Amino acid sequence: MKIEKVYTHILDYKLEKAFESASMRFDRRQHCLVEIVCDDGTIGWGECLGPAKPNAAVVRAYAVALIGCNPLETEKLWLELYNRLRDQGQRGLTVTALSGIDIALWDIKGKHYGAPISELLGGRFRESVRAYATGSFKRDGVDRVQDTAEEVAGYVREGFHGVKVKIGFDVEEDLKVIAAARESLGPEGHLMIDANHGYDLLEALDVGKRASVLGVNWFEEPVLPEQISTYHAVRDGQPIPVASGENWHGRYAMLEPLQTRAVDIVQPDICSVGGFSEMRRVVDMAAMFGVRLVPHVWGTAVCIAASLQSMAAMPPNPPRRRPREPIMEFDRTHNPFRQAVVKTPLEHAGGVMQIPDGPGLGIEIDRDALRQFALKEV
Ligand SMILES: [Mg+2]
Repeated sequence: MKIEKVYTHILDYKLEKAFESASMRFDRRQHCLVEIVCDDGTIGWGECLGPAKPNAAVVRAYAVALIGCNPLETEKLWLELYNRLRDQGQRGLTVTALSGIDIALWDIKGKHYGAPISELLGGRFRESVRAYATGSFKRDGVDRVQDTAEEVAGYVREGFHGVKVKIGFDVEEDLKVIAAARESLGPEGHLMIDANHGYDLLEALDVGKRASVLGVNWFEEPVLPEQISTYHAVRDGQPIPVASGENWHGRYAMLEPLQTRAVDIVQPDICSVGGFSEMRRVVDMAAMFGVRLVPHVWGTAVCIAASLQSMAAMPPNPPRRRPREPIMEFDRTHNPFRQAVVKTPLEHAGGVMQIPDGPGLGIEIDRDALRQFALKEV
């Protein structure tokens, strides 16, 4: 079995209404999918987190080294590609692009052996996961506080056990947004806040101290991801558990935050941490250092399917009779191709997601949707 072709698919949709996190404005949705075709007709799919065009460019740069290789040798290929760009790579797009390739290779492996990836990773500890809703971005021309209250009430009606709201804009307004979310959620629902590294240390401490009375489960990316010592200061200076990891790519980026306990919760994204091959190493590292792991998920159904396979195979931690189960991030922002790219959407029911058990990722790609949402201009 040999790799014959590597394709990238850039999906694009111009939003009618733009929205913002503290670090990014979204007026288009763009994601990069990776398709790897083998000489026996087997096709694998992957996805890269982050800017679609640069990711696609790096995937194409890697592709020359993949043609003619055995796709089942996932570890060998991961190292070969990583080493190729190691000197100027190590983090960022070199690893996010490699993530999409690695996911596609594992999809091929699963299809070749007729097994879900979770089984090849060592076995399925669960068949479903609870999901929490991510939303409440800043929208143009609306009152953020009122908007968040209504949006969160909708997630409660849908059955989500928790929600994550976006802050990192303005401390006083952010605190009102958090309070409105708690009001809509009621006292029991899990409430997470995500600053997308929009604060400096003093703002993060201020928000953490004042929001803690509202019952906040974690405080995500309070400060810049490069500033590990600042994470320690946030953790030491306010009472809410600190979370981060979507922008730490690969095991080396994860080592210091885990080893020094810069965060209470680490959040690797399978589409940016290095795919299945690297995610399982990071899962092991987090368990060794006693740091809770909650995956970051932000992508199409390909990314959702990969995250679900990875979560199915995550060992219970701690390993007791009634383990604390991992939870799945479920992005609720507007993206018309998120589920359209697969023939059977990966939706939640009452805040719970079933984990596909078909071969590989357990999904079937809808090529009509790929054509419909293909980036038109270059
Ligand atoms: Mg985040």
